[in-house]
Amino acid sequence: MTHPIESEAHALALDAADPLHGFRAEFHIPRHGDEDQRYFCGNSLGLQPRAVRAALLQELDDWAALGVEAHFRGRHPWMPYHAELRAPLAELVGAEPGEVVAMNSLTANLHLMMVSFYRPTSDRPAILIEAGAFPSDRHAVESQIRFHGFDPARDLIELQPDEPNGTISLAAIERALAEHGQRIALVLWPGVQYRSGQAFDLREIARLAHAKGCVVGFDLAHAAGNLPLALHEAGADFAVWCHYKYCNAGPGAVAGCFVHARHARTDRPRFAGWWGHDQTTRFRMEPEFVPTPGAEGWQLSNPPILALAPLRVSLEIFQRAGGMPALRRKSESLTGYLEALVRARLAGRIEILTPAEPARRGCQLSLRVQGGRERGRALFEYLEARGIIGDWREPDVIRISPVPLYNRHSDILALVRAIEAWH
Ligand SMILES: *Cc1c(COP(=O)(O)O)cnc(C)c1O
Repeated sequence: MTHPIESEAHALALDAADPLHGFRAEFHIPRHGDEDQRYFCGNSLGLQPRAVRAALLQELDDWAALGVEAHFRGRHPWMPYHAELRAPLAELVGAEPGEVVAMNSLTANLHLMMVSFYRPTSDRPAILIEAGAFPSDRHAVESQIRFHGFDPARDLIELQPDEPNGTISLAAIERALAEHGQRIALVLWPGVQYRSGQAFDLREIARLAHAKGCVVGFDLAHAAGNLPLALHEAGADFAVWCHYKYCNAGPGAVAGCFVHARHARTDRPRFAGWWGHDQTTRFRMEPEFVPTPGAEGWQLSNPPILALAPLRVSLEIFQRAGGMPALRRKSESLTGYLEALVRARLAGRIEILTPAEPARRGCQLSLRVQGGRERGRALFEYLEARGIIGDWREPDVIRISPVPLYNRHSDILALVRAIEAWH
């Protein structure tokens, strides 16, 4: 292409050549006056697939027409409903089907996983997380440490960033494990850090932590549906994520949980419920708990069908789009284009905090506005007033997440041009 990158012709040519451009029409794009919003907030709440409404109405109709019988005779029978999600969910995160389950919410799953996989002893009581972790994760690990009678002031180890923009090198993680590894019961690490947008080498982190005898869990809130994952091979003991961000399954959507196959028949303690009971004998209603093998053995309750329907629709879209490899190709193009334009047109006004290497980031770029909080806030509100939606992180960061299912290169050009025109 011969047009300069900041030209409309260049952006439109990239969009025309995009094999996934048709998927945008499958989503409701919020409006700004007579135009579509430039929506860059899929890292916070993904947009609604148009097919969700019909899927929800189908469940309501089946409930109305069939009552309890819809468990067996509905269009998507409720009894094996979760089984329809198993294969696409496993594919999304690179797991075996028996390693994943959709249930509860992210933080609830994190607690359930820690009940089984955080077993502190006086010699090995600690949890390692990144400094500046998402508050819910920090609350969860801190409360678990207290619950076991240990002291977060000593036993919660928060690894400080060692790189200039607040990112963390693998070498720093390795050093922390060399120094504290013998005391660490659990390493809980993000797939993509929510604030910096940094992506981590999960396989390497699991390998390093396991070598020190630690259990490893991943929080994939910002990685699932954003990056290709190979959870089984990466080898973590467990992982949790949500589906309302990059997975477009709606506000507060049912979350995801991964338990590695080597724990499929574990006798570790767990908090149990009837839906985790062995499926072949669950309805004998016997008093003794016999877990169903694999991740489904951690289920507590019968699943919320009205909340799972949007997830079923969303996972089907991911599959039809060619899965994460195809989406990632477009995502790298979008984010690379955003990065190139920011460097070419906004240097000195906007600093990119997210790593420049594509392997160390997903689709999000965290942009720091030069001039402090008030200026950053002013820019954020200026963009919002023009229908350009990012999200704000105190004190001076605007996160922009172009997603491959519904964002276009021309959206990115519009964003950069708007910032250029801002005084
Ligand atoms: C979004 C997010 C959460 C949210 O937790 P919920 O239980 O889904 O409300 C937790 N942790 C991280 C890292 C997140 O990015």
